[in-house]
Amino acid sequence: ADLYSVKQWGAGYFDLSDNGDATVTVNIKGEKVSVAIIDIVKGMQERGMEMPCILRIENLLDYRIQQLNEAFANAIKDADYQNHYRGVFPIKVNQQCHVVEEIATFGQRYNHGLEAGSKAELIIALSQLKDNNSLIICNGYKDAEFIELGLYARQMGVQCFFVLETPAELPVILERSAALGIEPLIGVRLRLSTTVDGHWQEDSGDRSIFGLSTSALLDVVDQLKANDKLHCLQMLHTHLGSQIPNIRNVRTGVAEACRFYAGLVSEGAPLGYLDLGGGLAVDYEGSSSNSTHSMNYQLDEYCVNIVETVKETLDAMAIDHPVLVSESGRATVAYSSMLLFNVLDVRDHKPGQLPDSLPEDTIEVLKNLFSVLNTVTPKNFQECYNDSLYYRDEVRDLFHRGQATLRERALAENINLAILDKIAAILPSIARVPAELENLPELLSDIYYGNFSLFQSLPDVWAIDQIFPIMPIHRLDEKPTRDAIIADITCDCDGKIDKFSSPAGYVNTLPLHPLKPDEEYYLGVFLVGAYQETLGDLHNLFGDTNVVSVKINAGGDFDFQREFEGDSISDVLSYVEYSPSTMLEQFRKKAEVAVREGKISVAMRKQMLKAFRDSLQGYTYFER
Ligand code: PLP
Repeated sequence: ADLYSVKQWGAGYFDLSDNGDATVTVNIKGEKVSVAIIDIVKGMQERGMEMPCILRIENLLDYRIQQLNEAFANAIKDADYQNHYRGVFPIKVNQQCHVVEEIATFGQRYNHGLEAGSKAELIIALSQLKDNNSLIICNGYKDAEFIELGLYARQMGVQCFFVLETPAELPVILERSAALGIEPLIGVRLRLSTTVDGHWQEDSGDRSIFGLSTSALLDVVDQLKANDKLHCLQMLHTHLGSQIPNIRNVRTGVAEACRFYAGLVSEGAPLGYLDLGGGLAVDYEGSSSNSTHSMNYQLDEYCVNIVETVKETLDAMAIDHPVLVSESGRATVAYSSMLLFNVLDVRDHKPGQLPDSLPEDTIEVLKNLFSVLNTVTPKNFQECYNDSLYYRDEVRDLFHRGQATLRERALAENINLAILDKIAAILPSIARVPAELENLPELLSDIYYGNFSLFQSLPDVWAIDQIFPIMPIHRLDEKPTRDAIIADITCDCDGKIDKFSSPAGYVNTLPLHPLKPDEEYYLGVFLVGAYQETLGDLHNLFGDTNVVSVKINAGGDFDFQREFEGDSISDVLSYVEYSPSTMLEQFRKKAEVAVREGKISVAMRKQMLKAFRDSLQGYTYFER
């Protein structure tokens, strides 16, 4: 059985091999080539790359750009749409230099451009795009410096659009463009009244904080007319929200955008470009539904819907078809990265060894508790549950009053656990489980401690309850016999994952394998290429993880194209304004005083300073 739903969320890129390994499959010149992820991990170990690690599969990035562009091209051809598609990648979704470089390289053959939401991102776009055939879309609030940079790019022939988020940007654009004598390319970002399902609902609709209202849009048109610059208004831009799970929202939103497009054309604006923003979803849970972490459509359907809606709506008004632009971020990069980590330890809730009988002089409540243990049946389990908790709490009370010993308390807790274990074993055969016992399996589940920081590597799990597919990357031919939640190593109670998608819907525990002595157990969190890396923070000073970028070759072997070492302890200390060299000096002084006071030898001092220095250079995560 596909216990981890990999066939669903894996979308053909991830699967299981016959010998129980998770595989990644890429398309090389029409041939499917699969590689076991654990083999890549072995290669990392040989190269000294420690866990945790972000593994990026370059081919997947390339393939996603290809699929997106070809899906639009096919939809355009099939609908006889009279213009073309130009994709842009929003840099904010993954700003890592090698990711943007790869997108610029792979995207060149489709003239895939970049979207910038800040001056820093515009600088990235200007430096990374290979030629002037691709678009640069500037969103976000733009000051005079931002605008000047974009105007200079215009002068060099770059197709750089300023998309107005607010009417206040227009006077600055007009003033700077007049001062430099460079005509701008202007777009207007609209606030549609269409709202979408899912988490990013508030990016759309009347209360969205982004975009121009209808009357602000007309203000902009009037200002442009007054300045004789209406010919610069060449793009209409909308963004309904990220991760749109429901295709019907896309159709409604696009149809509304087309009405605005027609309205602007009748106002005399040339337009020519319709940018529909991001929103193309990723099926993180593999349910193919309109639930927040899924999508009820496929890529092809998304493109066909957009192309057909634009064509039908504009044809009816005899308006020329615009260049279609989309800013798909998540759907472009999510698949290409996974987080890999080893499990450091497991805390189970199994009861310890219990005696066969209790001595005569045992306190009465403990005897009562012990007698419950052997009476649990499918008929009386609820009563046993009540009794067990009652007697356990009685022993705890006695302990608080000094009337029970530490060992008696430990015994009571152990017997209670043994009773709950028996009850949990009965529950699956019960037709209607009482509400208070529904989460008993979760309470008794194991905690697997993973070598990673949720806050650094999976911030959306913490911030917005994002679901990512998680599974072991090996031993998948063995039945997982443990139910577990996953904790990270930040010692923060929020640093845990206890909501997973399963074939039966959302569940609170993940089936995992017991650890084997002397063998690492590796878990993979998949589809993490979008938004996670730069949103991550330095909670507990766990820094960036190692990153490895791999290219799979036709023969099934793979090249380590790039390896980036994660932050050292010295790096993260500098981020929070410490000076590692001063810290070493301070420690050296302390060690010198200890030598003088005869607490340590000179040889010991040398050893201690070496340990301090090595730690500064070391990885912030658990090192084996
Ligand atoms: N374009 C704009 C203006 C956005 O705000 C966003 C993100 O919210 C995107 C594109 C990317 O969206 P997605 O990752 O859903 O494709």
